[in-house]
Amino acid sequence: MSAGILTPPTTGDYIEQVMNTVKAKNPAEPEFHQAVQEVFESLRLVLQRHSEYRDARILQRMVEPERVIMFRVPWFDDQGQIQVNRGFRIEMNSAIGPYKGGLRFHPSVNLGILKFLAFEQVLKNSLTTLPMGGGKGGSDFDPKGKSDNEVMRFCQSFMTELFRHIGPDTDVPAGDIGVGGRGIGFLFGQYKRLKNEFTGVLTGKGLNWGGSLIRPEATGYGCVYFASEMLKSRKDSLEGKLCLVSGSGNVSQYTVEKLLDLGAKPVTLSDSNGVIFDPDGIDRDKLAWVMDLKNVRRGRIRDYADKFKKAIFMPTDLKLEHNPLWNIKADCAFPSATQNEITAKDAANLIKNGIKVVSEGANMPSTLEATRLFLEAGVLYGPAKAANAGGVATSGLEMSQNSARLSWTREEVDDRLHKIMISIHKACFETAAAYGTPGNLVNGANIAGFVKVANSMLDQGLV
Ligand code: NAP
Repeated sequence: MSAGILTPPTTGDYIEQVMNTVKAKNPAEPEFHQAVQEVFESLRLVLQRHSEYRDARILQRMVEPERVIMFRVPWFDDQGQIQVNRGFRIEMNSAIGPYKGGLRFHPSVNLGILKFLAFEQVLKNSLTTLPMGGGKGGSDFDPKGKSDNEVMRFCQSFMTELFRHIGPDTDVPAGDIGVGGRGIGFLFGQYKRLKNEFTGVLTGKGLNWGGSLIRPEATGYGCVYFASEMLKSRKDSLEGKLCLVSGSGNVSQYTVEKLLDLGAKPVTLSDSNGVIFDPDGIDRDKLAWVMDLKNVRRGRIRDYADKFKKAIFMPTDLKLEHNPLWNIKADCAFPSATQNEITAKDAANLIKNGIKVVSEGANMPSTLEATRLFLEAGVLYGPAKAANAGGVATSGLEMSQNSARLSWTREEVDDRLHKIMISIHKACFETAAAYGTPGNLVNGANIAGFVKVANSMLDQGLV
């Protein structure tokens, strides 16, 4: 018998072995590798102290989705032509509750992107303190430029397959990029028709039919509450801070709104065509104009610079290594568009310009290298799975209201959201310190999220 068999692998070897297997078994899924790698780096510290997770092969089990559903979505466009898209649902981990996570409709959607999002979602949902497992889904369907009828026909076809896999105690999807109130309405209508059941099977519903107040606002508001907590840890606040916000969708809009509530000055927004910079600040009237542009007229952000003359528009090329948005001097950054939108070059520009806070509204918006630069520079860095957990937390509150057949007031939901964000920050902050890396909220979030899921998996046996 060789010494190798007698000697258990060291923590480092074990993590490397699992990481190599993840790459070998899931080729061409770079975003999934990136998300797993970031978490595994933090878990070195935990595995050194807790060999039981290694013995029970918790890492190998957590990177393997409990179930992956992939399906054809055929639909008729307005010209009567047949279109075919691909639909997905990743049911990643149900150790602490029913699968929960959004649906993304965007041409870039593929299996690897949804697996990264589902993996992140498992740890994020664990951090919320609510009983929710992790999942994610979507399609490579592009709602941009489609009529309402086309979006409805697509959603009905998508749900005609998805309905058999989800349910209020099984899997509860919500919105994400490209799926807002309109999409959730069409999806819910078709689910109800197929099942003949009115249940809380989706969150982000309209207020007249089971939705929660503050759910649309929750991710953006929560991300700003998280930034505020980070600043408080250095006896500072958002009052008077100059803020960069990317994107111009749901998360960005309510990030701007809450920044204005707390006395900060947001100066940018963007979409996939470019960035607007308004040195006078985006005030409430301008925000209302943006909301109409994006949610009703479904236009492009460049129109902002035509309407408000002091603002400038800068086109972006997503293939470039840097985005002009992250080269504007400011105190705080709220990336709220999409994954990997802050490259190492962008992070270096932000740091050079004296950025104090980065609070991530989007999922995994910073590359691994950018994250490392922020941590090394001592920037207050709120990783996505903690900073943007307010959205799913409020979805959890919507599920509670649906189960109890009650509707809470705006103030009550906002107060609960605020308290949840304070407690997530506290858990991340204290866990980072307990594992010898004070101030490193990446480690704090990954470890605090992981331990609850891993312990639940140990309790439930080999399933
Ligand atoms: P949304 O309303 O659809 O808005 C997305 C925004 O990001 C749009 O301005 C869009 O511009 C831009 N964008 C999307 N994909 C892009 C790409 N590949 N390159 C450049 N820009 C892109 O979506 P959202 O709900 O605000 O979601 C934004 C981010 O927050 C995502 O990472 C999402 O996963 C995360 N998130 C959302 C929630 C939630 O409750 N909604 C919760 C947690 C995390 P275009 O219009 O030009 O595409």
